[in-house]
Amino acid sequence: RQNAGPDYLSGLNPEQREAVLSTEGPLLVLAGAGTGKTRVLTTRIAHILREKKAWPSEILSVTFTNKAAREMKDRIAYLVGNALEGMPWLGTFHSISARILRRHAELVDLKPQFTILDTDDQIRLIKQLLEAENIDEKRWPARQFAGMLDAWKNRGLLPKDVPAADSGYFANGKGGKLYYDYQARLKTLNAADFGDLLLECIRLFRENPEVLAEYHRRFKYILVDEYQDSNTAQYLWLRLLAQGKPASEANICVVGDDDQSIYGWRGAEVDNILRFETDFPGAKVIKLERNYRSTANILKAASTLIAYNEGRLGKTLFTDIAEGGEPISFTQVYDSEEEARTIGEEIEQYQRQGEALNSMAILVRASFQMREFEERFITLGLNYRVVGGPRFYERKEIRDALAYLRLVAQPADDLAFERIVNVPKRGLGDTTVKMLMETARHMQVPLLQAVRMMVETEDLKPKQRTTLRALVGQFDDWAYRAETLPPYQLVEQILEESGYMDMLSADKSVESQGRKENLKELSRSMEEFESLGGFLEHISLVMDRDSADSSDAVTIMTLHSAKGLEFDTVFLPGWEDGTFPSQRSMDESGRAGLEEERRLGYVGITRGRKRVRISAAQNRRIHGLWQSAIPSRFIDELPPDAVEVTDRGSAYGGYGYGGGAASRFNKADPFESVYETPGWQRARANQASRKGDGPLTIEGDLVARSVDLGGQSSGYALGER
Ligand code: ATP
Ligand code: MG
Repeated sequence: RQNAGPDYLSGLNPEQREAVLSTEGPLLVLAGAGTGKTRVLTTRIAHILREKKAWPSEILSVTFTNKAAREMKDRIAYLVGNALEGMPWLGTFHSISARILRRHAELVDLKPQFTILDTDDQIRLIKQLLEAENIDEKRWPARQFAGMLDAWKNRGLLPKDVPAADSGYFANGKGGKLYYDYQARLKTLNAADFGDLLLECIRLFRENPEVLAEYHRRFKYILVDEYQDSNTAQYLWLRLLAQGKPASEANICVVGDDDQSIYGWRGAEVDNILRFETDFPGAKVIKLERNYRSTANILKAASTLIAYNEGRLGKTLFTDIAEGGEPISFTQVYDSEEEARTIGEEIEQYQRQGEALNSMAILVRASFQMREFEERFITLGLNYRVVGGPRFYERKEIRDALAYLRLVAQPADDLAFERIVNVPKRGLGDTTVKMLMETARHMQVPLLQAVRMMVETEDLKPKQRTTLRALVGQFDDWAYRAETLPPYQLVEQILEESGYMDMLSADKSVESQGRKENLKELSRSMEEFESLGGFLEHISLVMDRDSADSSDAVTIMTLHSAKGLEFDTVFLPGWEDGTFPSQRSMDESGRAGLEEERRLGYVGITRGRKRVRISAAQNRRIHGLWQSAIPSRFIDELPPDAVEVTDRGSAYGGYGYGGGAASRFNKADPFESVYETPGWQRARANQASRKGDGPLTIEGDLVARSVDLGGQSSGYALGER
């Protein structure tokens, strides 16, 4: 590695340098996006090492993701000029806590090899507890309790600390006891859930002062990135570790930006920033104002948008980067398909101009938006990677739905059968499933066929026989309907009738909402297919594509996971009310939800270095019906002089407000299902008629444009003149 020499400081501006050099005593760096907060942290660690103030093992540094930790290690090694023997205490709150817990596992009633439970395991465990307590899971879903557990743990509350008012509500007063039982059960399983990693660490420190003292001696310096998104448990954890010295002398440095606090829904407390100066009296506060990342237009757009939030700490940002730069573009497109097509074209154009795909990212509000881009890029042969989540067709709920469809189309698909036989739960235990498999093997028939045979025998318990008979009946029924029903309707019916949707509805977690949206998106993606076989064929081709990761590729990710990153070109699709800001945040009373969405918008825009391209679809097609969408309210909050508006759809709709009503075309009855939007002129079937194959005539104040709906269908979009 190249030795960077002592001039690792010379590239810094005076405030950044001060933040790097002020190694002793508490320090808060409060600064907007792209001002070099993360760079300051990295350089600070390099400085501490080069000045031999501490060994790598004596520095505790917390990053937001494991990826950020890896990047930081590389960067520090480069600055220090030699390969480090590692920075064992550089990682996320969770990874560092797990490491600490393993060293003292017996003190928190665990063994060092304890397992860390994932959500599925956690839910299974809660269900067992509910059953043991005779609590009706339909009324008191396990997911709901998991959410409560999470919230308690984020707030640093052990079972004994949860106020009765908080826990009493669940299962008529049993919530508190369930928390005790749950923790006890974890111990017998020698397991910890995610929240425990921090919580048990806190308990370890509180109950064992000598252990805490060991860490006080060990950690000479503490550094935390993205401090605005720390929750209460993380805050308590940090405070305990920083208590080795009087608060005013603690060597703790936190960096953050209140405007980028986007994890409130997970218990993050932006107030932790405000508390810092109280907790660590005399803390130095450094503000960085020069942004090194983005052009003036990007900064102006981001600053103007975020200024609509109340209750900010207030920061200014400026840049020296060349004159203005490209304006932010805001493009309205007809629908999400056109959005994907347009963005795909632009990416190819930039690529022809010599820009790397790695320098471009598409940042979406919700993961269901990703599919359209994935499909388009596959068609174009454009390399992409999905960060922070599996690709659309690899998601659990999508694979489950596909398994049902495969089994309908192909009753011999045993893998599909195994996947869904107990999803949703049907009370078929492992022994039953094993028995079915044995029969199938013995008789040399597919599983579904084996089931048919078994239900006629006495080998099964009556309850299971009934369940399986019903299941076989459902599959016969679905196979019958598959012959006539369009696939997108079939999948909806299957998901309803199988109980899959109910299972997701009972699940109150944030993820389950996303899963439902993904399933809706799946059904939407099937609209263009006339036969189930055709669709499944398409899917198997799409799924077969293997991922090559280190290659040059466009990144597709959510706004949440883009925090801290930067790209030359950033695409921000789906800026429509209801998508971004999310419907949920708009329905909420009070401003908190919307303000968090606006911060998300700020995070999104400030990821861009040279170019930010926002788009909105005028129509979202949901369940075969068009819904007109209006551009995000945040568009109006952008400064007009930094934004260039392109409207690709206004020929058939009022500016900015979509095509109004539109119909999904069905060859037999073109206007069979005309969607009606409140407040819009209703595009009634009888206002438009087609004579033979001649042109469409429209009555009233409507205009029409023909639309290719893909595949076999075509149609007309109707809008106000
Ligand atoms: P965010 O709030 O988005 O996490 P940040 O404040 O952590 O942003 P960095 O990611 O550290 O900002 O820096 C933004 C970009 O500016 C990086 O590419 C970084 O290398 C560059 N940068 C920071 N400081 C300087 C400097 N003094 N000279 C040149 N480039 C700099
Ligand atoms: Mg950063």
